Amino acid sequence: MKAPKDQWVIQIDVTNACVRKCSNCTRFCGFHKQPYFMDYDYFCKAVDSLIDHPGLIGIMGGEPTLHPRFAEMCQYLQSKIPLKYRVDDEDLFYPTDSFIEVRRKSELKQYEIHEYSDGPRPIIQGAGLWTSMTKLYKDNLEIIQDTFNFQNLNDHTNISYHQPVLISRKDMGIDDKKWEQLREKCWVNQEWSGAITPKGCFFCEVAGALDMLYDGPGGLPLEDGWWQRPIKDFESQFRWCELCGIPLKTFSRDAREELSDISQTDYQLLKKLDTVDFHKNALNLVEINNGAITADSIKKTALYHGVSYMEDAQNRLSVNNPIYAGSFIGITIYDSEHEIDLEVIECNLKYLEQIFIVSDGRIKKVIDKQGDRVCDELLRVCDLKSRFGTNVYMFIMTPDIELGEGVARLKNSVVNPGILHRIDIKKDIIDKSYINNGVVGGKCVLINALAQSLKAANGNEIIDISIFDKLDKLWVSRKRVTLNSDMNKNMYGVSVDCRSIDTIKRRLGDVINLIHRFIKEYGGLKVCMYSIKLTKRYGFKLMRQKVKNRFF
Ligand code: SF4
Ligand code: SF4
Repeated sequence: MKAPKDQWVIQIDVTNACVRKCSNCTRFCGFHKQPYFMDYDYFCKAVDSLIDHPGLIGIMGGEPTLHPRFAEMCQYLQSKIPLKYRVDDEDLFYPTDSFIEVRRKSELKQYEIHEYSDGPRPIIQGAGLWTSMTKLYKDNLEIIQDTFNFQNLNDHTNISYHQPVLISRKDMGIDDKKWEQLREKCWVNQEWSGAITPKGCFFCEVAGALDMLYDGPGGLPLEDGWWQRPIKDFESQFRWCELCGIPLKTFSRDAREELSDISQTDYQLLKKLDTVDFHKNALNLVEINNGAITADSIKKTALYHGVSYMEDAQNRLSVNNPIYAGSFIGITIYDSEHEIDLEVIECNLKYLEQIFIVSDGRIKKVIDKQGDRVCDELLRVCDLKSRFGTNVYMFIMTPDIELGEGVARLKNSVVNPGILHRIDIKKDIIDKSYINNGVVGGKCVLINALAQSLKAANGNEIIDISIFDKLDKLWVSRKRVTLNSDMNKNMYGVSVDCRSIDTIKRRLGDVINLIHRFIKEYGGLKVCMYSIKLTKRYGFKLMRQKVKNRFF
């Protein structure tokens, strides 16, 4: 068995609450008497204990963003993770219609090879997030992008396969000798993580979750250096393997079926917990005959053992996910020198849901496709959130600005709410992407009220013609991008066609860059030896699948 010191990630399970109820969830979401939310101070201690571990500090649930102190947890991680492992990729600041592609590209840049005691392995250091990308993910997008240089994303709306966990080897009639061999090779232990739960430290994330589910004795105490302990110190936790079907050859089930497979021993234990979900037809008690689960008892779309978790990384995110940008509105600022140009307003209404006409810091008129209405309302920076909400992106502009077609594309894109997208027609190069027309001196910014930079404002700033300079001063300089075709660098259209020649070529190019970097850093001979060692360890078929899943 692998000890945590040789694992590439150790998870901190901050909650077992989740918005989903996937089949065969390794955290058994829905089957607990009550979900937990990890104590914040304990979380900080968990992070501190892992700072020297060579690998990722994973933040996992359940759904971690449901934790009421999730944003503070991100800040704590930022304060503790050494600078060299912090996110430093300005590509992440640009809007994208291919979010998974951009994350994958960014992560490829960060791989390094680490020599663990059981051999080399390509790893990423820093902080990792495992999430099913709810609306809360979107609300926290800026801080998430700033904190986690690795993100394991899956909104579970497309097909992905989960192997049954709650299957006992004794129910399958596996004798001790054979079991020991199977357990030694358990793929979760070999390929994945140890874990810290509110009840201590575990050599295996699933063991930690089983301890939580069945109210076990807990793990090793959370103290500095716990992860350096040899595997024999974790031996008492092998008790959970007895109730775990991961090392067994069974089958895989589509996570969206919301049906968890279970064998008799686990069933009886779970029955004692008497939870609501236990009684809700969310379990499939399998029949076992001659050491195999009968086909009839599997039900529905379960597949054979060894099926790929997911065919293409793009399937991790549905185009309907709330992460895609919400509404776009305009706030057009007039002063005594300008008059309302109805042609420009009409043109901008092609892309915007509403346009607010503002003068002297007050909203004077609201125009949409149905018509207009007069009003008189003060508008300050601190009002933006309550007035427009967090799902709304605002173009604040001078009256001459006519928006371009790129704005329509933004509606199907992920736009980091922390970015100031801006253009000053006196200083910046304009092209037709986002600004179709404007006069010298014209200005336009695109912002979201969630931006961290706005928190630096005292909030009383009036939205008048001086707001452009004020925002410029308020904003963190690295989070400003120009509203022109530079913003298209992450528009791949991959969510539309992930198998196009362009996509394949680009992905191949990224992998070649990675190999090139590895050769520069480690030398060609070492890279070859590493590749041979890894292929020997995993076997050609598994290695091919890993490369495909991770890099393509
Ligand atoms: S999203 Fe993840 S944690 Fe939530 S139920 Fe599904 S597998 Fe479990
Ligand atoms: S058998 Fe289950 S509990 Fe044991 S190491 Fe494997 S995944 Fe973890």
